[in-house]
Amino acid sequence: MTLRHDLLVVGGGPAGYAAALYGAATGLDVGLVEEGRIGGTCLHLGCIPAKELLETASVLRTVRDASQFGVSTGDHKPVVDLSVSQQRKQEVIDSLAGGLSSLLAGRDVTVYDGTGRLGADHVVTVDGPNGSTVVVADHIVLATGSTPRTIPGFEVDGTLVVTSDELLSLLEVPDRVAVIGAGAIGCEFASMLADYGSTITLLEALPEILPGCDTDVAGALQRSFHRRQISVHTGVVVHGHDPAGGVTTVRFGNDEAVEVDLVVMAVGRQPRGDSAGLVDTRVVVDDRGFIQVDGRLRTGEPGVYAVGDVVATPQLAHVGFAEGMFVVKDILGEAPTPLDPTTVPWCIYSHPEVAFAGLTEAAAVEAGHDVVVSSHRFAGNGRARILGDTDGLVKVVAERDSAGRAGRILGVHLVGPWATEQLGQGYLAVNWEATVDEVAAFIQPHPTLSEMFGETVLALTGRALHG
Ligand code: NAD
Repeated sequence: MTLRHDLLVVGGGPAGYAAALYGAATGLDVGLVEEGRIGGTCLHLGCIPAKELLETASVLRTVRDASQFGVSTGDHKPVVDLSVSQQRKQEVIDSLAGGLSSLLAGRDVTVYDGTGRLGADHVVTVDGPNGSTVVVADHIVLATGSTPRTIPGFEVDGTLVVTSDELLSLLEVPDRVAVIGAGAIGCEFASMLADYGSTITLLEALPEILPGCDTDVAGALQRSFHRRQISVHTGVVVHGHDPAGGVTTVRFGNDEAVEVDLVVMAVGRQPRGDSAGLVDTRVVVDDRGFIQVDGRLRTGEPGVYAVGDVVATPQLAHVGFAEGMFVVKDILGEAPTPLDPTTVPWCIYSHPEVAFAGLTEAAAVEAGHDVVVSSHRFAGNGRARILGDTDGLVKVVAERDSAGRAGRILGVHLVGPWATEQLGQGYLAVNWEATVDEVAAFIQPHPTLSEMFGETVLALTGRALHG
């Protein structure tokens, strides 16, 4: 028997389950194929477990610094028991996974347990634990995600060399760690392990950490890492390593080396472009493994879309959600506005946190904008002082208007306490194409961390209050 749907999604991570849930909410009859666990990398091996383990680091910092607030732990130095944190992590994951399954069931989404292979004529064969099932749909969405990359010479063995997949099950705090790659994953893990008590060497091939982030923000994070004794080396390519007796020596740069107990590989994620068969289809996978799509996320095969980490847009869960919803609207003929990758929100959960939306100062200049910039440090903010968490700044990049004043807001960049939760109004300002004058007219609650954004925008009007 051949099963039929209006929409069949292959891959149940954020991009795939968003397409399924949103499609079902519009009244489409939806099927969802998943070979592992619904929730994908984000829920099981990415965002959620990483942030849970980073929260353990945050609690540890709070307890460690408690005496500054007159709160005593007696003679006891706080210690972290990762087995407890791992259990808590799993409880968080399980409760969210349960919620997701209920949502899918509540919207009558048919979930197929197995690996889907797309062939000609929109036929998907699902190979599951109980044999093969053939499913056909008017529209197919490929959302097969990505896996961690490694570099030549480093074999991931789960003990000496790990990726995020293995690190997220960590039970013992390693003494000395080399983190290779200072993108979002590398910076989050370097920060987390440093809080746990590991000695960290962070190695990045490019000239700055967090490539693509505004240089003032990356610089502030790097200085903060330096104060926390994280040893950051930029502009150094890692060449290889020499394991011996349970430790290894990582070679990098010009004849530099560091001996460590653990290597964390954080050099990007490999799209799983060819994991869904695609034989006898016009779906094209490029030489990097991404499925090729146009601006409307359509592949070369009519009626077949691709979303999430498997396409060459920012590999972020919330971009996956947006893409999943976008294709449903496209299928329904609603002519949605294509997503602009330059204005999506970015949130990095290191300590201090980083969050931004829109153009960096350098990217704005490169794009030909005449820019006006203002930045304010959290050291001048009352709430940050109360929290005892003053590292970081807010930077706003605006376009100079015809009168020579700061006009439209092009980019908002934050590094500091709860930056990820503060980004909201900056994200709206950029995407609403608001001007500095429009945003400056709004009242910011006091005392808050987020009033720093208002203060920075106010400064761009030429009439700052506090700075
Ligand atoms: P990334 O591509 O963002 O960073 C990898 C870094 O490794 C780069 O800066 C690169 O220059 C460096 N690198 C590569 N080879 C190297 C070598 N041989 N020696 C030294 N440095 C080397 O990738 P990532 O941090 O692994 O993250 C993967 C994806 O997941 C990214 O798209 C990222 O944005 C996303 N992600 C985002 C978040 C978040 O936003 N909080 C968290 C996790 C992952």
